[in-house]
Amino acid sequence: MITQRAKTGGIRILSEKVNMHIDPGPGALIYSLEQGLNPQKINAILISHSHLDHTNDAGLLIETMTKGGRTKRGTLAAAHSVIEGNEICDRAISKYHRQLPEKVIDAKVGMKFNVGDFNIEVGKAVHADPDTVGFRFETQDAGSFGYLPDSEYFKGLSDFFEGVRLLILSVLRPSGQPWKGHMTTDDAARIAEEVKPNILVITHFGMLMLLRSPNREAKIIEKKTGIHTIAAKYGMRITVSEKIQTVEPKDQTDLSLFMGT
Ligand SMILES: [Zn+2]
Ligand SMILES: [Zn+2]
Repeated sequence: MITQRAKTGGIRILSEKVNMHIDPGPGALIYSLEQGLNPQKINAILISHSHLDHTNDAGLLIETMTKGGRTKRGTLAAAHSVIEGNEICDRAISKYHRQLPEKVIDAKVGMKFNVGDFNIEVGKAVHADPDTVGFRFETQDAGSFGYLPDSEYFKGLSDFFEGVRLLILSVLRPSGQPWKGHMTTDDAARIAEEVKPNILVITHFGMLMLLRSPNREAKIIEKKTGIHTIAAKYGMRITVSEKIQTVEPKDQTDLSLFMGT
């Protein structure tokens, strides 16, 4: 069984042996506490690329995972740019934080590693940070699922996610509003058609997407492809066992808060 909650601070994946936080953006630590998810129980942190909305709380979560640096534990698997920096992005993990986890993986395309009983493969993404990566997870009892961070559509993208039950795509832009390095609803529909997951979850919405309504964009994809598509919400929980079930959060943050209305 896997449970996942999404908020602006990233995604938490929970199973019997795995407590993994993906892309700890701003607020990851505080939202984790708010959701009743003890950040000290995290045993893996995965980071797709070196942009602040994916890395801001990385140091904080590494500290909680390692009990303030007193216990060498857990895995940090992050794009090369996050750990070392590259010609465009500065490293997002300080030297101090880098030596705290038990295992540090410089995640490059094609690499495979394990966290608990999950087999994880690193895949390509095309974004402003040239080292950006996606992840594919194979689990013992819940099948496979995939996560693609900010990326534009590229040839071969769907091959990496072939056969996943659940696919999470970062869809910044609504239909008909493309932007280099990012994905629109139209791209997401194309990928959904190619991969044919049981469920597609779209997340990481930009302002244009929020104004258009992510739910409406999800419906566009669903209508076009026949693939059940859900727009992620803060605090949403998805349970993956024999069935995939979604539990909507009780209190949805009013989006007008972010729009100055
Ligand atoms: Zn980015
Ligand atoms: Zn982003």
